[in-house]
Amino acid sequence: MGVKITWIGHGSFKVETETQKIIYLDPWIKGNPASKLSLDSITKADIVCVTHGHIDHIGDSIEIVKKTGAVFIGTPELAFYAQKCGVPTEGGDLCPLNIGGSCVVKGIKIIMTNAVHTSDIMVSEKDVVAGSGSCGYIIVTEGNVRIYFAGDTGVFGDMRLISDLYKPDIAIMPVGGKYNMGIREAAYAAYLVKPEIFIPMHYGTFPDQKADVEELKKMVSAWAPFTKVVVLNPGESFEYEK
Ligand code: ZN
Repeated sequence: MGVKITWIGHGSFKVETETQKIIYLDPWIKGNPASKLSLDSITKADIVCVTHGHIDHIGDSIEIVKKTGAVFIGTPELAFYAQKCGVPTEGGDLCPLNIGGSCVVKGIKIIMTNAVHTSDIMVSEKDVVAGSGSCGYIIVTEGNVRIYFAGDTGVFGDMRLISDLYKPDIAIMPVGGKYNMGIREAAYAAYLVKPEIFIPMHYGTFPDQKADVEELKKMVSAWAPFTKVVVLNPGESFEYEK
């Protein structure tokens, strides 16, 4: 079996690896208009990666970690916040990283990358506490499938570095515009990152962040002909085998 990637909706994904490890990326379940999942249905997780503290990204990550015993991965500030919210530090439930750093959890390598985006931590709709900006991740599975999860970001030149260093097979990148890359920037990002597969995310949830994915496909085929755009609907999965 290969790697199965499910778009929960908006910027949230579930990744199932070759040995059935479960990774949630920015899981926002409660209040996510694009998600058909209920938080109660999530009973098993090994790793939860959080890119930043905006409510649609930190989402339900802490609750999922607390109920499943998964390892929480985020910036030191997000990890500190998770600890204050009751995620135990003992037993390895917290794995803070900083940009350029990495760790291996349950046989899966996680590298924290740069992202160009602002962020404090939105505790609720009303309250904000200091955060530390945003990051992305490279996830290397047990079978050496390399996934670049960009989080929220604008396009930046060092995406070329991410390509050179980690050679992602799959890139999951935002295309909704307004708060991150639109389709033109994302097509250029595909040219920089050079993945085999590009899964667009962070669009279609709200009326002010739509994306013309047919136009995106045309731009990617012009600028990054080696890259295939795989468009998912929320709840849909993509399977990849090396
Ligand atoms: Zn954000």
